[in-house]
Amino acid sequence: MLYNSFMPGYAYAEISVNSPLTLRRTFSYKIPAGLSIQTGQAVWVPFGAKTLQGIVLELNPYPLVEKTRDITGVIESSPLLSSHQIDLARWLSDYYLAPLYESIALMLPPGFERRAITYISLNSGSPTYLETATPEEDEILNLIREKRKVNLGALEKKFGQQRTRRTISHLLQTRSLVRTYELEEIKVRPKVVPHLRLKVPVEDAKNLLKNLGKNAHKQSELLRYLIENPGPTAISQVRTEIRFSSGVIKLLLSKGLVEIQLFRLNRDPLSVHNVNLSFPLSLTGPQESVLQSIVSSLDKGTLHKGVPRAILLSGVTGSGKTEIYMQALAEAIKRGRKGIVMVPEIAMTPQILERFISRFPGRVAILHSELSLGKRFDEWWRIKKGDFDVVIGPRSAIFAPQPDLGLIIIDEEHEWTYKQQELPPRYHARQVALKLAELTGSTLVLGSATPDVESYFKALSSEWQLLQLTERVTPEVGSPLPKVEIVDLKQELQAGNLSLFSRSLASSINMALTNQEQIILFLNRRGAASSVECRNCGWVIRCKRCEVPLSYHSVEDMLICHQCNYRVNVPQFCPRCRSRRIKYLGVGTERLEQEAALAFPRARILRWDSDVIRGRKYSHQEVFDRFREGKADILIGTQMVAKGLDFPKVTLVGVICADIALNIPDFRAGERIFQLLSQVAGRAGRGSAGGKVIIQTYSPDHYAIQPAVKQDYAEFYRKEIAYRRQLNNPPFSRLAKLTFFHTNERRCREEAERMKRVLMEKPEARGINGISLIGPAPAYIHRLRGRFMWQIFLRSANPSEFLSDISFGSGWSVDIDPVGL
Ligand code: ADP
Ligand code: ZN
Ligand code: ZN
Repeated sequence: MLYNSFMPGYAYAEISVNSPLTLRRTFSYKIPAGLSIQTGQAVWVPFGAKTLQGIVLELNPYPLVEKTRDITGVIESSPLLSSHQIDLARWLSDYYLAPLYESIALMLPPGFERRAITYISLNSGSPTYLETATPEEDEILNLIREKRKVNLGALEKKFGQQRTRRTISHLLQTRSLVRTYELEEIKVRPKVVPHLRLKVPVEDAKNLLKNLGKNAHKQSELLRYLIENPGPTAISQVRTEIRFSSGVIKLLLSKGLVEIQLFRLNRDPLSVHNVNLSFPLSLTGPQESVLQSIVSSLDKGTLHKGVPRAILLSGVTGSGKTEIYMQALAEAIKRGRKGIVMVPEIAMTPQILERFISRFPGRVAILHSELSLGKRFDEWWRIKKGDFDVVIGPRSAIFAPQPDLGLIIIDEEHEWTYKQQELPPRYHARQVALKLAELTGSTLVLGSATPDVESYFKALSSEWQLLQLTERVTPEVGSPLPKVEIVDLKQELQAGNLSLFSRSLASSINMALTNQEQIILFLNRRGAASSVECRNCGWVIRCKRCEVPLSYHSVEDMLICHQCNYRVNVPQFCPRCRSRRIKYLGVGTERLEQEAALAFPRARILRWDSDVIRGRKYSHQEVFDRFREGKADILIGTQMVAKGLDFPKVTLVGVICADIALNIPDFRAGERIFQLLSQVAGRAGRGSAGGKVIIQTYSPDHYAIQPAVKQDYAEFYRKEIAYRRQLNNPPFSRLAKLTFFHTNERRCREEAERMKRVLMEKPEARGINGISLIGPAPAYIHRLRGRFMWQIFLRSANPSEFLSDISFGSGWSVDIDPVGL
């Protein structure tokens, strides 16, 4: 229902208020005469003495609360949210138990939350003369008349708040003056990089160099550098090669020998790609039949009965999934629909972007968190206008205002980056995409070489559809699948080898170095330091109740279960083989780098992990480029190196210790290591040189390691799903993780225990409903930024429903369907 000036009504608007106490309040406002309001529109509303931004979610002929105030004004004349986005926000809030405004905020234009600036302007035609005006008041009025529109804050600053308000209040009442609100401007600061260059001809500079005094050797050094590199060079770049202070630059500047030029860093994501047009390839038989299934879903729309809600495309790397995505998209476009394509991490997948851009030149929007606010803001509005056929981005791309949506694609659907973990709503993009597909009648395609076990389970049921591609499109000439070798670390120990490199790995590394080939050493650092293992027989100490590995806590000097708080002392010897070689598994990439440098002194080593990136030594792209250009022999990294990168000169991949990932206290550890090892195995032998993968482990017979070696997903799935069923883990149940944060450990535990009692008191918690509450227990990462964390796990068929009437105070975080325990 639409209201206009003749038909005043009421609007329910959700507003952003920074107080958890107001979260569950209903906000209902009156639509004043003369204002036309639509759902999804952004408005200014009064809240106490403040004016806040709100989004209209509902229009009603009657107020929802007893007393309503008027909507102050309109922020944007057209609605920001479509009606299905409003439905999606409500669903997000209910499903993930997140504040409604936070759910809406995901879909608002970047930088939406800005302060309101009040302007006072003349209402044309109305007299603005106050007969009673004092000279002081006239001064203010004259200014308004002259400028026609002034910033209220600026007026108050100039003339004083009281005096200003007194002057204008009457004129506002008589509507001779009107008040309007505008968003403060987005502060976009272009990134500028200072460059240094010679200001004089090279020959002159050479002559001058001779005349520089002996004690000016720093100046000479810099000048010599600039003679050799006469073009403008970023000062930061010069500094990586020679050292000098800014005083040296100043001296050369004052002598007129050099100049500084500012270059604006171009942040347009598309400008770095050379666009070569690409044309659809003629599909192989299996590809064609996959495409036809997707097209038939496009034609029916997923809203129809009997049409699957999603299509899981399970296909080995190189089976032509991306080509299918692009052709399916072209089919959607033909039908007047548009698409959203999600990729796990945009910085690490430049190749897939390039392929879409060259297939759909000028029709691809890229959402990238590294873009400036202004750029993202512009892009958002262009998407909303319908400028792009396809939006590509990370998980947040699912909230892009893409109109006429027809096709949603999630590439590498098993990746954990699709789950937002830090801030509410803690959504999973796959779950959101399912809902959005349902709301818009779009087709959802999920692609992966190692599908998430829960997705595969659904795909095998009638709920989704499973499409498979089992072969590579082009068996790459001279590049057979890599040979995978498993090294049993227990045997290494028994043979007296205590280093991080088994004999086999060490000799393979030396051989590759001799042949001037490249090597990747892979170490999953998650879980460093905590689990405890017998280095003789591989036995890992686990919780008697939950089966997850116990973690060592140095403060208590005990082993603790992070699910149920079961505690034991660290055993003195292995209960299985009586060995005393009980060790904490905990080696990081940094130590690996040091040991590699000692063991292989002639190798050039490059480390790639989040510390290196965060320390801003290199960006992802720089590490990638350096290694690809052959500036290092060994690349050491965490899971990052496993992510879809091609390095043709790599012939050897070593997994230092597969067990680290295996022994994290999480029922998904097996799945994780399978995915990781499958990916890692796919890294070697991309080029013509062939390749070898060496996996070092204490548990060579593990059910997830064996099928990874054979690249046999079906075998892995069979075993994994049997364990899940046995322990009633997802997909056979659903979980919620409730975490309480506090600086005081005792308070933290007490609050968690109190919450457990509150939850236990709910009638549904008793008995028959298959609901179980586990914990409270200290979290796996026990302490984060000075705060302790205690957790309660809830297992039930519908955790959101069970928890919906519980009020979690501040300090609590609720994670529905958590991906990490
Ligand atoms: P995936 O996404 O499953 O890893 P891609 O779509 O990237 O597979 O395909 C792997 C390679 O095979 C790419 O170089 C792609 O261009 C090529 N390719 C895909 N489909 C065909 C086809 N029908 N004919 C020829 N080459 C193809
Ligand atoms: Zn043992
Ligand atoms: Zn336990």
